[in-house]
Amino acid sequence: MFIETQTSFGYTESVPTELMASREETARQIVDICHRLYDRRLVTATDGNVSARLAGGTIIVTPSNLAKGRVTESDLVEVQVDATPVSGKRRPTSELGMHLFIYRERPDVGAIVHTHPPHATAFAAARRPLDCDVFPEVIAGLGRVSLARYATPSTDEVARSIAPYVKTARAILLANHGVVTYGRTLEDAFTAMEKVEHAAHMLFVARMLGGAKALTPGELKKLSAAMKESGGENGATERSSRATIRRPRKH
Ligand SMILES: [Zn+2]
Repeated sequence: MFIETQTSFGYTESVPTELMASREETARQIVDICHRLYDRRLVTATDGNVSARLAGGTIIVTPSNLAKGRVTESDLVEVQVDATPVSGKRRPTSELGMHLFIYRERPDVGAIVHTHPPHATAFAAARRPLDCDVFPEVIAGLGRVSLARYATPSTDEVARSIAPYVKTARAILLANHGVVTYGRTLEDAFTAMEKVEHAAHMLFVARMLGGAKALTPGELKKLSAAMKESGGENGATERSSRATIRRPRKH
């Protein structure tokens, strides 16, 4: 079963509703993801925000100014994709505009995670994208992670800054700010955030050991063929993986 979603470019694409849980189940999953982000130290204090698209097309999102380690289901807010409030006592996250922009641009996206994980945010602060071809698992799972230009947090600038990458990316570094990841499900978006932070951490350590060595063009070609044969590392990442294997760079 599918629902039709209008994109900002005026065409429609199908969103598979079988991947969308009920409102209650989605709220429970968002709370679980928030607590896991906090426990994994991918978010701190009241930073970060998580959202998911419901089968009816509305968005359920974390509220502003609440520690992710303490979020409960009754704290969550539901809005239309044009930001019209539907339910909830609190104000939605101040980064709601970025979330809604991604949902409008990517009808295939069902969930979004935004946090400030330390290693990946350090790369974003140093304005270094995670675009080196070092780890086959990262290339297969995420592709290259681009760096969006600096935008003042909580403003419309953030959505505009990610516009060049939103159609093809699964994860984007936000300069001097943090990371946003997204996928078909909450688990996909959370996994992408874990992968980005883990890759940034490994690259940071490798740099202290003299620098990571990028895969050669021949090794990348073999990886691309292996991914094509297996249909991508998983279904959710197949499109971004195929789109992002290119020649290696020094890092
Ligand atoms: Zn932020």
